[in-house]
Order: sequence, then C-alpha cells, then structure tokens
Amino acid sequence: MALKSPFNPGSGQDYFEEAKQLSLNAFMQTALNAKPTARGQGGRHIHYSFCPSCGASTPQSTKLEVTDDRLYHCFACADAGSIIDAAAITWGCEPLEAAKRLVGVIVSPNQRAKPLPVVAPEIPDEHAELRRAAQRQVFPKIGVSTLIFAHRQKPEPEVLKYLTEDRGLSLPVIREAWCRQLIGFLPSDPHQCTELLSREIGQDLLVESGIWNPARRMPGIVGRPLVFFLPGLNSAEFRLARPEREGERKGLRYGPGNIPWFWRGTSGKTAVVEGMFDVLRIPGHRGHPFRLIVGSDSD
Ligand SMILES: [Zn+2]
Repeated sequence: MALKSPFNPGSGQDYFEEAKQLSLNAFMQTALNAKPTARGQGGRHIHYSFCPSCGASTPQSTKLEVTDDRLYHCFACADAGSIIDAAAITWGCEPLEAAKRLVGVIVSPNQRAKPLPVVAPEIPDEHAELRRAAQRQVFPKIGVSTLIFAHRQKPEPEVLKYLTEDRGLSLPVIREAWCRQLIGFLPSDPHQCTELLSREIGQDLLVESGIWNPARRMPGIVGRPLVFFLPGLNSAEFRLARPEREGERKGLRYGPGNIPWFWRGTSGKTAVVEGMFDVLRIPGHRGHPFRLIVGSDSD
C-alpha cells in the first residue's frame, strides 16, 4: 500500500521508507506484546489474537494476519495496513511521527524477535486513558449526529426494508427504539456519512476515540448505517443494513460495552435473548410483556 501522510504531504518520505523496512512481526511481539497463534503458507503468514485497531480477542483465537512481515489485515474490524499504520494507531499519533519513532525503537528486520510469555497485551495506560476520555465524549455526539441526519431526511428506504423484511421488526418497534435512543441511523453513503461525522464531531475526536484510523480517508464505521447505542451512551455498535459478506463482520463495537443492551417493558417478567435484533423482535410480537429484555453479546 502506498503510504502518504495526510498531515504532511510530500514530507518525511525517508522515515516512511526506513520504517517500512522494519519487521511488523517484531513490532507486534515487542511493542504490543502480541503472541503468534499460528503460522501458515511457508511461514509467510503469521496470525495473532490482537489487532492494533480493535484490540484483543481470546488468547488462542485468530483475528489478525501478518503477511510477509510487512502487511496486516484484521478479520474482525477489516483494518489493514503497514507497520506505520499499526504504530500510528497504537501510539495515537500521526503516521510521520509513528515512522520516526519506529526507526528509533524497533528492531531491524534481520533480528528475530523473542516471543514474549505474555497473554494479555498491555496497552500503555496514558493511551488507554485518553481513548476512554475521548469515547465518553464521542458517543453522545454520534447520537446527536444521528438526530441531525434524521431531521434532515427520513430513514433510508433500503435500511427500513432491511429491518422490516430481513430482520422481521415492526415499524412501531423501530420508531419506539429510535425514540428511546437505542438505535440511530447514519447515512449509508460513505461520503455523506464522513461529511456529517467530520462536521458534527470533528476528525480529532474520532481519531482519539479509535473510530477513525488517521491513515485512512474515512472512519471505519462508514457503510454501517445502523447504530445500536449501549446504555449510558459510552459504547455503540455499528451494523450493516444488509447481510454480511464472507469475512465481513456484522457489527463493529467501540467503547467498553460493559452494560448489556436492554429494553425496558411493562410487566414483571425478565427475558434474556441472544442479540440486539432479538431484543427488538420480542416487544414487536408480544406487546411489551416483559419488564426487561436483555441482549447478550452476539446474534
Ligand atoms: Zn481489528
């Protein structure tokens, strides 16, 4: 991938070239404490359960692939790039600064990195704290952006069709979930969505909260017009409004997501169902018979 810094066009090319020669596996293993989970195709591909963009999965799972020690691709969040992209996300800095730091701190490609006996990757505290602070601000602003979009135009017909026909939700439940700010809608069009988010939230906050990889032209959530806001507005999940393609993830979740998604009903019963769409399907079919319907983590 040709790497151009959006912040410093035409500058710093020597640092970029030098940094790109460094071992991405060494970076994964030393800077991120990620442990390889598997090797494939003559050692050209090395797998990890940790992604610089979307974080850790269970230790033995595979979600990120490094090819030829140079490029990574995450099967979970679809983020992909070079060692410079990985470093820029990890350190929360511009690509040029990441390249400069890499040239100074990471071992050369000929030195074999020692695998570290660490299971959980350690993210520097200051970085994690900054991200948490940014996330506390960003989700309420995304909520406002969905309201602004809703006032400007009605929900897109294709999105409503997906919810009603493919997912079996009723229009009154969709409306009620929208009024409760359990769901929101963003423009399906990537450019329109980027323009709305940039104007209402600003690129800086989107980058700080991990939603926009600064090496990319658009935030990773574009093309996912359905937003499920988690209670407390400290997390959200962004969903496709169509069936996912092979290798594509149904939902991208940002924020700690430590409170389950729920629908408060009127009776004394509580139901626990599998996912967010199941939560919305129950009130639609049975007229709010539950006090609480709780969705678990997947559907
Ligand atoms: Zn990822």
